[in-house]
Amino acid sequence: MRGCLFDLDGVITKTAAQSGGRFVPFDAVADYDAYVDGKFRANVTRSFPASRGVSLPEGSAEDASETVNGLGSRKSDIVLRHIREDGVEVYEGSLRYVRAFRSCGLRCAVVSSSTNCQGVFIAAGIEDLFDQRIDGLTAKREHLTEKPAPGIFLAGAHALGLKPEECVVFEDALAGVAAGRADNSAAVIGVDREGQAQALRDHGADIVVSDLANLLQTA
Ligand SMILES: [Mg+2]
Repeated sequence: MRGCLFDLDGVITKTAAQSGGRFVPFDAVADYDAYVDGKFRANVTRSFPASRGVSLPEGSAEDASETVNGLGSRKSDIVLRHIREDGVEVYEGSLRYVRAFRSCGLRCAVVSSSTNCQGVFIAAGIEDLFDQRIDGLTAKREHLTEKPAPGIFLAGAHALGLKPEECVVFEDALAGVAAGRADNSAAVIGVDREGQAQALRDHGADIVVSDLANLLQTA
């Protein structure tokens, strides 16, 4: 193993939806996992309304009316405003883990479907933590397929100058561990933030941990 490919939301930063006690029509675990986590923006605002029987026209990002692309850009604006105003919390165990790996000479990339990756990095103060970044903007530019297809992780390995089988994938989403498995990576580590360890294993995780620091303690 010579490199590591880390998902961002839910693995490095606490920017994935968390299940809270407050009622919201959107299910922060099941709906987030099925329609949001690891998905490209337009697919989120197409597939989640579709799950409720709502079909939206594609439209454009400038639309004030409810279209797939108009909702997508409004969603992104809200996310960026929250990131700016509220900051971004990181998983300290993940940061320790990445720093430990890099100090051993292993290369690390973040691989995220989010187009807000750069903003999250700046808000979290981790712009220099990774050797490479593959994000939603890279995916759009290079026509990469979204998770659970392996395209975005293949691009991560390539960016590190490594073969996929030389890399370990770290993911908290079911689609993400499936993508890591399909990518033929050396190992897939499932990061269980929501009590779905068995589902992560069923989708292809070799090992499931609740915090990456647990791997440091057992190493
Ligand atoms: Mg994630």
